[in-house]
Amino acid sequence: MLYRVIDAQDLPGLVAAFMERHEVVAPVRRGSKHVFDVISSPDEIDLDYTTTVASPKKYLLPPRETLMAYNAETNRIREYEAEITPRVIFGAHPCDINAINRLDQVFLESPYADPYYAARRKATLVVGLSCMPDDTCFCHLWDSDEARFGYDLFLQSLGDRYLVSISSVEAANILEASCDVREATDADRIDFRHATRRRQDAFNQDIPDIQEVAMLMDAFHSDPYWAELGGRCLSCTACSAVCPTCYCFDIEDVLAPDGKTGVRDRIWDSCTAPQFAEVAGGHNFRPDGRNRVRHRMYHKLNGFLAAHDRMLCVGCGRCVTACKANINPIEVLNFFKAKGSDDALDAEGDPAGTQAKEA
Ligand code: SF4
Ligand code: SF4
Repeated sequence: MLYRVIDAQDLPGLVAAFMERHEVVAPVRRGSKHVFDVISSPDEIDLDYTTTVASPKKYLLPPRETLMAYNAETNRIREYEAEITPRVIFGAHPCDINAINRLDQVFLESPYADPYYAARRKATLVVGLSCMPDDTCFCHLWDSDEARFGYDLFLQSLGDRYLVSISSVEAANILEASCDVREATDADRIDFRHATRRRQDAFNQDIPDIQEVAMLMDAFHSDPYWAELGGRCLSCTACSAVCPTCYCFDIEDVLAPDGKTGVRDRIWDSCTAPQFAEVAGGHNFRPDGRNRVRHRMYHKLNGFLAAHDRMLCVGCGRCVTACKANINPIEVLNFFKAKGSDDALDAEGDPAGTQAKEA
């Protein structure tokens, strides 16, 4: 890894240099919130944000994309030739870069790599940006508070300058050509350590750090808690829409009215939608909120970990804000914290756990 330092005032020049050959997607303000959007000027970017409403996932995995078109009369299909736009995702925080790394695992590092995702990913540069957590951030619990790979440049803010981690030649060339780049000094390294410490101290200490959550989920798989949690679910699917790592999709054939031509589309799907696990014949493998919400939490905090050695949740906190029924991984951590308190009381001679229930 190569480290360099640039002045903060050079940043618009860096963005402008990227814009010469790329579409630049960056955080912009929308009312009181921030979203990732395509910019037409560096002035539109607002890097002073904690979390965007949704992640930049849609620029790699669009909510709807056509995979192929077919003609029943000629019996031919037109392979989807991706009109790929060279793109820069600028200003992504570590959780979102780690989320992209999860998507890479799913769509690239499998026996059947996804050509649509692969083409977009290959044409995308990622410029990361340091951040400060708000009350709903818990990326540090899942080791997603630091991006160790998956970006081309990473900008660590040191106030009036940035310490830049460089990991691609293409991005390094653009950086060199557009900014006054210098070597990092001892003062830069000291300021970097201070910034890192300030950030670590800023995480919400009220969110329980329960590292064995996956194991506990197996132990409490049949607990009535899941029915209570799932019973609140409105099936609105907002949690999946904002989540940077939700990748489930449906395939839809859209026929022209004459039935002769059509397209095959891929569209986002969500495991909290009632029809998600419904199969031909009408049977639904997850017919109620209990099963659906439990499945979602298992995929985030248990199943993906078993298969890929890391949580699927990166602790971005977006679903904490998006879910109006207060269903999110922090709730699950709080449940296990409470369970731990119950068990501790039971072990101290309160077999019925009455003290904990009354508390
Ligand atoms: S489950 Fe929630 S906190 Fe975890 S990555 Fe998805 S949106 Fe973020
Ligand atoms: S868990 Fe919350 S956000 Fe997700 S579908 Fe249910 S109510 Fe909607």
